[in-house]
Amino acid sequence: MAKKDYYNILGISRSASEKDIKQAFRKLARKYHPDVNPNNKEAEAKFKEISEAYDVLHDADKRKKYDQFGDQWQYADQFTQSRSQGAPFEGFDFSGFGSSGNTQFRADTGDLGSIFDELFGRHKRRTRPQKGQDIEYPVEITLEEAFSGTSRLLSLEAEGACPACNGTGITNNTACSRCHGTGTTPQTKRLEVKVPPGVKTGSRVRLAGKGSAGFSGGPPGDLFLAIRVKPHTRFERIDNDLHVNIDVPLLTAVLGGEVKVPTPAGKELALKIPPETQNDRSFKLSGRGMPHLGKSANGDLIAHVKVILPTRLTAEEKRLFESLKELRPV
Ligand SMILES: [Zn+2]
Repeated sequence: MAKKDYYNILGISRSASEKDIKQAFRKLARKYHPDVNPNNKEAEAKFKEISEAYDVLHDADKRKKYDQFGDQWQYADQFTQSRSQGAPFEGFDFSGFGSSGNTQFRADTGDLGSIFDELFGRHKRRTRPQKGQDIEYPVEITLEEAFSGTSRLLSLEAEGACPACNGTGITNNTACSRCHGTGTTPQTKRLEVKVPPGVKTGSRVRLAGKGSAGFSGGPPGDLFLAIRVKPHTRFERIDNDLHVNIDVPLLTAVLGGEVKVPTPAGKELALKIPPETQNDRSFKLSGRGMPHLGKSANGDLIAHVKVILPTRLTAEEKRLFESLKELRPV
């Protein structure tokens, strides 16, 4: 069994008074209490350790035995018996005594309970641990950002753990004057958030635990990004399909050829159109539309042909159109 220095654990001297011990323990308990450190194994272990140290040192009888026998103090009585049979105290080997496992710290020790009542219990009714509030934050993005995913640096007003009482709501045994015992104060939080690809207007992106701090050590609330995607000048989104108009020169429409179709990613896709493509005909580019939120699949990109008639014809061009007209009288 490892040697534990209870004085060291509480950060006090060997001559500390009962009041010093209590004060040192209170200070540490406030810092490491599980209510203040939910799901923190390290704090939990530390809390157990300081509670054990306090349990022994605040009790005059146990402290006396501890001062004399160190962390084997619980076997002091057995030792006294064997000592009366003539065993020397100095250099006595205690190693056989700690193995039974009954040195385990018991958390329900009466006096410890009462100090927690003092620390936390007095305010229990008003400040039971409570989940913090959820926050909704509006985020406006472009269609391109919705297509590729994006991030935002947010600055939001939320309740955070009160710096004066470390979120416990209590200082010096009374309700914290800074937060009036709630354990939280209004704070400006800055955080970077990710907006996943595929969101649409009305999407709510949940960021677990990024909302307001919990009351009296309760878990924090969630942050929800309320998404609005700005309308695009070129693309129209219908579900996860994107519709786009493409200008096709008359002669390309008549003779067939290749046209460029823009995508929200900024590239252009080549689309072959057949001869005699009619105005308003649409072509589907499969899987080139918006991503499905949270999936790897995409909707389609639908290109709508808008045939553009030539303008500012030269004399030669005009003559050729007239020849065409003679060949195909209306
Ligand atoms: Zn406070």
